[in-house]
Amino acid sequence: MKHPKEEQTYVMIKPDGVRKGLVGEIIRRFEQRDLKIVALEMFQPTYHEIDNHYPKNEEWITRLGQKTMNTYEKYGYDAMADFGTIEPHKIGPDIRKWLVDYMMSAPLVKMIVQGVHAVDVVRKIAGDTMPYKADMGTIRGDFSIDSPALANKEKRAVMNIIHCSETPEEAEHEIKHWFNNAIVHKYKRFGEEE
Ligand code: GDP
Repeated sequence: MKHPKEEQTYVMIKPDGVRKGLVGEIIRRFEQRDLKIVALEMFQPTYHEIDNHYPKNEEWITRLGQKTMNTYEKYGYDAMADFGTIEPHKIGPDIRKWLVDYMMSAPLVKMIVQGVHAVDVVRKIAGDTMPYKADMGTIRGDFSIDSPALANKEKRAVMNIIHCSETPEEAEHEIKHWFNNAIVHKYKRFGEEE
């Protein structure tokens, strides 16, 4: 059993976060909450790396398609005209492709963030997946207003500044995928000395 302060999560600043000049601001918000950055790098991902980052299973792809269909229904858009289908499992692959294209459009910043309930706290600091719904005071709520209604119309992924793992299991998997055997640093922040 790990010490509560050793929970780790995976965070990636997406192309819009990098291009809006938010790298420092995002790191500041994590550090301000007493979370510790233990690995950090800017890099240009390969197609292969991004393709393997997003799940390929039917369930995840269908969920992505279903979310899009929900938006189309809510706003009265014509999914048949845009996708040639209204079936979530057939729409999902298109959205996944938009995501991969978007993630490759600029360098990314990847990091491992460590601390008490790091996974949940980082998601809370990030805010709702959909920036237009995200609370003020969250990264997405303060720096974006993007919505699936607009993104789907423009045939692109929702630009929501950062990616962060959803569960500790997903964090472990993503840290392995993105950092492999890279060095994770150990240090005590001021106030952590015994
Ligand atoms: P996350 O874990 O909060 O990033 O959210 P998801 O795993 O549900 O979705 C992955 C990414 O797909 C999101 O961060 C968005 O960039 C994008 N996305 C999710 N739902 C939609 C949608 O309905 N339309 C579009 N265009 N993009 C979406």
